[in-house]
Amino acid sequence: MKKIKKTGKSDKKPKKELFQSPRGMADILPVQQPWWDKLIGIGQELAGLYDFGRIETPILEFAGIFEKSLGEATEVLEKQMFIVKTKGGDRLAMRPETTASVMRAYFQHHLSYGQQPFKVYSFGPMFRYEHPQAGRFRQFHQFNFDIIGDTDPLYDAQIILLFWRFLQLLKIPGLTPQVNTVGCRVCRQHYLRRLKEYYGKLKNKICKDCQRRLEINPLRLFDCKEEQCLPLKAAAPNMLDNLCQACNSHFRAVLEHLEENKFPYEPNPFLVRGLDYYSRTFFEIFGGSEKTAIAAGGRYDYLSEMIGPRLVPAVGGALGMERVIEIIKSESLFIFKAPVKIYFITIGEQAKKCGLRVMEELRHAGVKIAESLGKDSLKAQLGAADKMKAKLVLIFGQKEVFEETIIIRDMASGAQENIALSRVVEEVKKRLR
Ligand SMILES: [Zn+2]
Ligand SMILES: [Zn+2]
Repeated sequence: MKKIKKTGKSDKKPKKELFQSPRGMADILPVQQPWWDKLIGIGQELAGLYDFGRIETPILEFAGIFEKSLGEATEVLEKQMFIVKTKGGDRLAMRPETTASVMRAYFQHHLSYGQQPFKVYSFGPMFRYEHPQAGRFRQFHQFNFDIIGDTDPLYDAQIILLFWRFLQLLKIPGLTPQVNTVGCRVCRQHYLRRLKEYYGKLKNKICKDCQRRLEINPLRLFDCKEEQCLPLKAAAPNMLDNLCQACNSHFRAVLEHLEENKFPYEPNPFLVRGLDYYSRTFFEIFGGSEKTAIAAGGRYDYLSEMIGPRLVPAVGGALGMERVIEIIKSESLFIFKAPVKIYFITIGEQAKKCGLRVMEELRHAGVKIAESLGKDSLKAQLGAADKMKAKLVLIFGQKEVFEETIIIRDMASGAQENIALSRVVEEVKKRLR
């Protein structure tokens, strides 16, 4: 007989490694859902008031849509996009945003023949391969509003006012909306030349990061928070002073609409967005004690040309759902009442079997019931009912099955009553009133 070699390892079962959700991708558990429901509910209510229809586009799109639309920033986004290669050889991307998807749908379904402007809202998960740091997720959610097919500055103002209203209804404290313009292709190019000229002369005075920004995307120079760069930024030429006539009057009209609505915006000439498809109005709303950016958007007249057959003006924005929920949770801005629960207890096999029918009857009558039928003892089940703060408990045992009755117990007073099974719906409803 062969001798079995001892490995020296213990006989204990190897510890099974538990799966975790992927990095930067979170579960949203039942206990967290009331906040999500609240946010979505308010968003949908506003959508109705402002006449936006809901659109849902696929999570996956042809990667080219995002690569084309994100222009200069493509290189950054290429690294940040989750790319899926299909067996058929298609290169699909998990959407990093929905703006391009909505515009794609607009052309694909010839929506320009319908009512204009085309006003839609959407919400759902987006994906970016970010470094998961505080508040940055690889799967995150946005609530979007988009208006396609009109250049009128009134719509720029309407989008800003809508996001403002949204955040106000969510009771977010410390809201600060900032507004700027990024001009059009003509004046932006002219402005970028001036900006490069200005910083080109100061090359030795700016930080290493800024020297790099100057080469790649000079607008990003305004992101710098280094002390040596701040005074230079303050004296830098800004977009506002370099607008062409058309952009200037468009932006002035947006501001006039905002002022007419007593909208407390802060002009910020250094508020920029690197994406090529943005034109003219750009806004960002900050809020909460940390003053985080929670909603942003603007006009994106050029996107249509980048991914579609012709120019169709559009304006829209997105609200970061995780960030908003974090604020409303941490500031306890909403208190959700636990739903009144009736707890159903069965004792013995026979009661369990018949109990299901009684519960079905109650649920059919619109009564919310909780139960844990796996627990056998009365004590354990009563404990569970107490833990979930049930108002009433129904106890169904062998004797009750036989007599066609049920015990109804008020958890607060401890008072119990034996009632006929045929009257259970009526009695429960009476006591819940
Ligand atoms: Zn212009
Ligand atoms: Zn710098």
